[in-house]
Amino acid sequence: MSTGTLNIDLDALVANWQALDAKSAPTVETAAVVKADGYGLGVAPVSRALAKAGVRKFFVAAAEEGAELRQVLGRGPEIFVFSGHMAGDTDMISDLDLIPLLNSVDQLTRHFEALGTAPFGVQLDTGMNRLGMEPAEWAGVAELVLGAGPQLVMSHLACADEPDHPQNIAQLEMFRAMTDGIGAPRSLSATGGLLLGPEYHFDVTRPGVGLYGGLPFDAARPVAHISLPVIQSRVVEPGESVGYGASWVAEEQATIATVAGGYADGLLRSMSGKGALYHEGTACPIRGRVSMDMIAVDITHLGVEPRSLDILCAEQGVDALAGFAGTIGYEILTSLGARYRRQLLGGGAA
Ligand SMILES: *Cc1c(COP(=O)(O)O)cnc(C)c1O
Repeated sequence: MSTGTLNIDLDALVANWQALDAKSAPTVETAAVVKADGYGLGVAPVSRALAKAGVRKFFVAAAEEGAELRQVLGRGPEIFVFSGHMAGDTDMISDLDLIPLLNSVDQLTRHFEALGTAPFGVQLDTGMNRLGMEPAEWAGVAELVLGAGPQLVMSHLACADEPDHPQNIAQLEMFRAMTDGIGAPRSLSATGGLLLGPEYHFDVTRPGVGLYGGLPFDAARPVAHISLPVIQSRVVEPGESVGYGASWVAEEQATIATVAGGYADGLLRSMSGKGALYHEGTACPIRGRVSMDMIAVDITHLGVEPRSLDILCAEQGVDALAGFAGTIGYEILTSLGARYRRQLLGGGAA
């Protein structure tokens, strides 16, 4: 076996959704965000497992993702599109029953002109300044829009992973000011907001990263496990270097294992010389630079040459690995790439 193995634990995924769902009142619907190929883990297996567990609302970033998801889920579950109704999306939206979250008066006009009152939602900007209608814009169209019966009125928090950040309250108050009393379902929170407490839940929550085992859901079960086969190992003498740029030089005799997996597999080059791989719970430090297809690992202290080493495992989750690379768990997951042998674990596997 010459490529890494990516095990995707669908039971853990479902357990994470259930644990997040249990944090809100039974009247709050917990949706699932499956954009970017289910955060890199595969939109088909992830969405099927979640649908089987009872998820009825899914969110994606782009209409094309919604189209792919519709093939996976069939008719029934609702699919919301964050980028709304963009030019060229009309046929996809209408043929595949996607629900665009309209972000601007331009998008509203496009949607109503092309599809009348076909299902739609609205995204409001409450301070993130990324997507959605601003208060003045919304004030101008709210009556008309609400008359057409939106499926959802939503906004998004910029700082929800920092519970004490004053912007959370500010956005909550802005959202309330823009939507209290509208009589349409409302949604404000992704994983971080869901964890801030019930006042952030409204009618629908939209967790993504927490389902996949990432922070800020610190009680999440890990979903992705990666193990990389050892291609070769060698003894390196004091003064010899390892890898590109000769950036690591052995001070003492060391045994170096070269594993199959590198930055082309989302094991970011910025973790060069910093992270570790694990053998049965023992950390083995990365030596020198991460290459495109290989990483050199110090196994001197193991005393055996293992057949493989783990880079995502119980000892080191996506956020720990992200820490070494100077990034966040989201980027680790969505960078993993196509080269792994992917194995689905758990009863949700279909
Ligand atoms: C990505 C995204 C989510 C999910 O966010 P997580 O932090 O992964 O839970 C929810 N809502 C919007 C608008 C998003 O872009």
